[in-house]
Amino acid sequence: MTDKNRLRIAVQKSGRLNEGSMKLLKAIGVKLSIRDRLLIAHSTNLPIDLLQVRDDDIPGLVMDGVVDLGFIGENELEEKALERAAAGKASDYDVLTKLDFGDCRLSIAVPKEMSYAGPQDLAGCNVATTYPYLLERFFKQQGVNATALMLTGSVEVAPRAGLAEAICDLVSTGATLEANGLVEVQEIFQSKAVLIQRKGDMPVAKQALIDKLMPRIAGVMQAKE
Ligand code: ATP
Ligand code: ZN
Repeated sequence: MTDKNRLRIAVQKSGRLNEGSMKLLKAIGVKLSIRDRLLIAHSTNLPIDLLQVRDDDIPGLVMDGVVDLGFIGENELEEKALERAAAGKASDYDVLTKLDFGDCRLSIAVPKEMSYAGPQDLAGCNVATTYPYLLERFFKQQGVNATALMLTGSVEVAPRAGLAEAICDLVSTGATLEANGLVEVQEIFQSKAVLIQRKGDMPVAKQALIDKLMPRIAGVMQAKE
């Protein structure tokens, strides 16, 4: 059970943002009793409940006001905002701070043997991606008539499988692309993890807790520089 008076924070349950988020919470003095199988963990020393979910769910939980704070990558946040805008849904939130983890870029990659001089070379192509809204926005900005083909997994094998001519995926080192015979040719979005807060009224005690935690976060990040 959760209590509405406790600060609700959403974090990725497992994956690339989990470790950075959990380490940061620990560093700012939030003690947690984690029970692996449960969605919710309670803090043992502060009025905080942690919701452990897929990162894809975090923007919506904050934008719908279901949780107070969320740790999320800007790529996922922007994609969800575009998706919600297309569906006529509002997507309000405040970015409290950028964080010092989760750095990556969303890039278009093509098979090694394909020539690429610029976005126009993608005209008429299917480009496989998990971020169709960000990719379509890029196509529109560039005036390229290409299709963003939504795949929720195995994006990097789509060209070899004959499903798409190119892909658009997150890259940090490029090793996965190389292993699949692909070359990064075009960055379309740069991303970092951010901490976001829901819009709307916040009980005084909860806001006071947030205001107490934010300088601690700044201090922890500064100490690492
Ligand atoms: P979930 O099961 O929670 O949906 P996922 O497979 O979507 O997990 P991860 O691969 O754990 O997600 O990535 C989560 C976020 O971490 C990305 O959206 C991005 O913001 C960030 N990230 C940082 N570096 C990378 C990278 N090299 N590849 C993918 N994501 C990265
Ligand atoms: Zn995800």
